[in-house]
Amino acid sequence: MSGVRPLLEVKNLKKHFPIYGGLLGLTTGHVFAVDGVSFDIDKGETLSLVGESGCGKSTVGKAILRLYPITGGEVHLDGERIDNMSASKLRPMRQRVQVVFQDPFSSLNPRMKVRDILAEPILNFGLANGRREVTERVEALMDKVRLPRDSIWRFPHEFSGGQRQRIGIARALAPGADLIICDEAVSALDVSVKAQIINLLVDLQDELGLALLFISHDLATVEHLTHRVAVMYLGKIVEICDRRTLFATSHHPYTRALLSAVPVPDPTAKRNRIILTGDVPSPINPPSGCRFHTRCPFAFDRCRTEEPMLREVGSGHSSACHLTHAPGEAIEAMRVAA
Ligand code: SF4
Repeated sequence: MSGVRPLLEVKNLKKHFPIYGGLLGLTTGHVFAVDGVSFDIDKGETLSLVGESGCGKSTVGKAILRLYPITGGEVHLDGERIDNMSASKLRPMRQRVQVVFQDPFSSLNPRMKVRDILAEPILNFGLANGRREVTERVEALMDKVRLPRDSIWRFPHEFSGGQRQRIGIARALAPGADLIICDEAVSALDVSVKAQIINLLVDLQDELGLALLFISHDLATVEHLTHRVAVMYLGKIVEICDRRTLFATSHHPYTRALLSAVPVPDPTAKRNRIILTGDVPSPINPPSGCRFHTRCPFAFDRCRTEEPMLREVGSGHSSACHLTHAPGEAIEAMRVAA
């Protein structure tokens, strides 16, 4: 990380959803969806939040976007705290932070032509005057996402899934965003289309200096686009480091299990899969100690009672595992086993 102030800082973010029950509809418990997550993103950087479905990664994205009120913690954009900002002050923040969702079809109004879909944020934020100027901006956005200018007069259903996702990206760019949250943005696409959209995002990042928070359940997807990766399990970050470190020398057993499931180009290559048994436990009643202990092949007594803290294990590399901080032989034993 540079010494420059990060664009986005998330500090000890918590989002607990209340569960209501009984005749009086009282709170009977909580879903601990996000439970103390911290990270930052520099200008022009991509951080990927990765983990299995239900680990809380999309909730983090929605909490940053203020789609949910948060339970605890702080979110800062360019040094300004935004999680408790009034609606009127929040407006410029909304211009700077945009989102691309997984399903472009349901997130684009089917009754609007692409021109009008893209014109909406331009007009909302007062970025152009008059019909001609708005249309020129819309056409420039189509150039950026490599779609033909004359297709602005078509409806979303007239485009393929990949093209619709390009329209979703154009809409995120329309207000002049400098941070885009991509929430499983390529998960529903075919492999070749997925690669094209990832290449487009990388090119746009180079061209515009965009920061990306890339949320994905799949490590293989983020490998070619991310600068750093944060691995989440049951509402917490268990490991965070740069991409190269993650793929070469990750420490956490959960990360290593996810990595062992990433397909390799050579199907004859020998590799040891770490098969995780059981489902992810319920976030309503997370396991004591290390939340991963019910599925970890290396769990020992301490894991069941004492929660491991996220601690630095190398430059810009932190891991939350008792084994990681144990003597070197223990880590080596895990590496050999994995
Ligand atoms: Fe496994 Fe224990 Fe490390 Fe948790 S703390 S990941 S249970 S070895």
